[in-house]
Amino acid sequence: MILYNTLTKRKEEFVPNVEGKVSMYTCGPTVYHFAHIGNLRSYLMEDVLEKTFRYLGYDVKRVMNITDVGHLTSDADSGEDKMLNGAKREHKTVMEIAKFYTDAFFSDCKKLNIKRPDVVEPATNCIAEFIHMIEVLIEKDYAYVAGDNVYFDTSKLSTYYVFGNQSEDELLVGVREDVAEDTNKRNKNDFVLWFTQSKFEDQALKWESPWGLGYPGWHIECSAISMKHLGEYMDIHCGGVDNIFPHHTNEVAQSESYVGHKWCNYWFHVHHLNDKSGKMSKSKGEFLTVDLLEQKGYDPLAYRMFCLQSHYRKPLEFSYEQLDSVAATYKKLRTKTSSYAAEGTVDKAVFESYRNKFADTVGNDLNTAMAITVVYDLIKEDTNDATKHALLEDFDRVLSLNLTIPYEAEEADDELTAYVEGKIAERKEAKKAKDFAKADAIRNELLEKGIIIEDTREGVKWKRS
Ligand code: AMP
Ligand code: ZN
Repeated sequence: MILYNTLTKRKEEFVPNVEGKVSMYTCGPTVYHFAHIGNLRSYLMEDVLEKTFRYLGYDVKRVMNITDVGHLTSDADSGEDKMLNGAKREHKTVMEIAKFYTDAFFSDCKKLNIKRPDVVEPATNCIAEFIHMIEVLIEKDYAYVAGDNVYFDTSKLSTYYVFGNQSEDELLVGVREDVAEDTNKRNKNDFVLWFTQSKFEDQALKWESPWGLGYPGWHIECSAISMKHLGEYMDIHCGGVDNIFPHHTNEVAQSESYVGHKWCNYWFHVHHLNDKSGKMSKSKGEFLTVDLLEQKGYDPLAYRMFCLQSHYRKPLEFSYEQLDSVAATYKKLRTKTSSYAAEGTVDKAVFESYRNKFADTVGNDLNTAMAITVVYDLIKEDTNDATKHALLEDFDRVLSLNLTIPYEAEEADDELTAYVEGKIAERKEAKKAKDFAKADAIRNELLEKGIIIEDTREGVKWKRS
């Protein structure tokens, strides 16, 4: 397996700490809102990475955290608390918000055929581990208490910028954006390990600690959770490119200071999905979610194919025109790939040769676009259906595009969509004519058929109950 490593900035042969085994950690979602399809691009490509390891015969243990505490609106330690903001916005408790959006995240993942990691650990489950790690860092003189918070002292490290790509200029921009500079910090890059109640008076979740009632910083959770499940030596750590600084830089700083040796060998970063105006965000423009794509009639797996057709290390621009084109391609592809009968004798030579071709593409820094080309080559190949079916099933262990699953169900979906949309249009007319009784009757009729409709700023949305 060849992989680009952000730590060394080159493609390298992947060599795990223990032969045949991979320990893999993924920075999980901050569950204050729905994931947008940009976030999901990262999880989708990490899913491909995990599945490629498994395809190549590795035994993988993958861990992911759920950030349900500690992540502020800025990745530096400033701004407001994302979870608290979410709770206020929806008049719910922080734990209700966390539960709702954690479930929504996994429901999106399921629709995109993203496998659930072997271990999923909410940060609020691991407060004792965070406290222990911070205590050790203080003992080792890598951390200090100031103004009731505990900070990591970056001046104690010989190399802080392990990923090497942060210029002083960029950092100064970060500092200028900070509304209130934290005067407790000894060095401008020092970061908070533990906040006390001094930060937000209305902080909902607080725990007793040796430094007072408070809550952990964001970075400490990934270090402590990964070590809890994967030990002090980790093979590969993943995230989106925006995680490189400060999050992953800080994780390396505190983890290696804590364990006293190198911690993680490979760093895998997925580039961003952008919209025409730039980086996708949850606050600006149309909030692109899997639900929204479904409401617009797209199969979520068409979005999976959209991601697979480009390389994870390149920024990807989202547009509906592009998605339309991929959706049409996906439909044609799947109609074809699901048409091969499984019965019959598999041609072993063809099977092996294609399996090797496929393994070479995904094993070469996840060249998923080329892997899809291998699928098209196979369709054209002069071999029997059973061999094609067996190979497509095999490739789908990585691609997860449901290649061999028949498409009839989708046609039924199309019919349902046409019916619901017809009813929604009828209801709109009724409302326009101020015939609210009819509008309500249509809503109830849909409800009886298990369809919930919702009036939103972006128009009427519907879902199955
Ligand atoms: P968050 O829920 O904000 O903690 O982000 C979840 C994951 O999505 C992180 O790994 C981010 O690096 C990643 N991410 C954020 N924005 C994008 C984007 N536009 N495209 C791809 N990945 C993203
Ligand atoms: Zn993380």
